[in-house]
Amino acid sequence: MSLPKVLLTNDDGIGAPPLVLLRDALAEVAKVWVVAPDRERSAASHALTLHKPLRLTPQRLNGTDLGHCVNGTPADCVFLGVKTLIPGGPDFVVSGINAGGNLGNDITYSGTVSAAMEGTLLGIRSMSVSVASSPIRNVKLAVRWSRRIFEWALAWPWPKNTLLNVNIPNVDRAAKIKGVRVTRQSEASYEGILAKRHDLRRRPYYWIGGRRRYEGIEPGTDLWAVRRGYVSVTPIQLDMTDRHALEVLKESNLETIR
Ligand code: MN
Repeated sequence: MSLPKVLLTNDDGIGAPPLVLLRDALAEVAKVWVVAPDRERSAASHALTLHKPLRLTPQRLNGTDLGHCVNGTPADCVFLGVKTLIPGGPDFVVSGINAGGNLGNDITYSGTVSAAMEGTLLGIRSMSVSVASSPIRNVKLAVRWSRRIFEWALAWPWPKNTLLNVNIPNVDRAAKIKGVRVTRQSEASYEGILAKRHDLRRRPYYWIGGRRRYEGIEPGTDLWAVRRGYVSVTPIQLDMTDRHALEVLKESNLETIR
């Protein structure tokens, strides 16, 4: 049996150490192509670069081929990689390992998850992997769990239009991870922080940041699982229709408007 083909990307940039370690680990069970942004593109969401030329540049690390970097977004990397580099396209897209959780509402901003969404849109089985906070305490442990979940997923009858969003607790020792929980998306969010400062010419500038909010963690959610030491695996669908609101709206008089 031939090895599965994997396109590996991230949003922390091709220089991020967890990417290289995950490449090495997946290469034991798959043929891996690394296509990653040439710099950090965290919170790039699902942006595609339409208005400037994109370049695929071969990258070497310690005298061996690492893969290619792209002067674009994580979604660009997946699109270019699938369309140009990998004969017949990959069997899987893996995005990560991100330094920092992609939990709850994070995923609408996340370049990491969006790369997996792009893979899903292209009809490829895709997963995103993140460590729940940063800096990552034990990268090797996160890599080991990523590989375990990937190997499990090889045999999973992947539904169409669904990706797996994996979050690994940020712990230092293997014994602190209790196992895996299948979860739903929480309402985890960041408390938006906006700093206003002044430059040397006394003109104001702004810096956007955020702090994780931990209240209201419901059982069965992604944030709940990682906070209790479980690897969280959330199936994410691309169809964002609110089924409940759909029924409520249909029963309203909206469609009678003329
Ligand atoms: Mn990131």
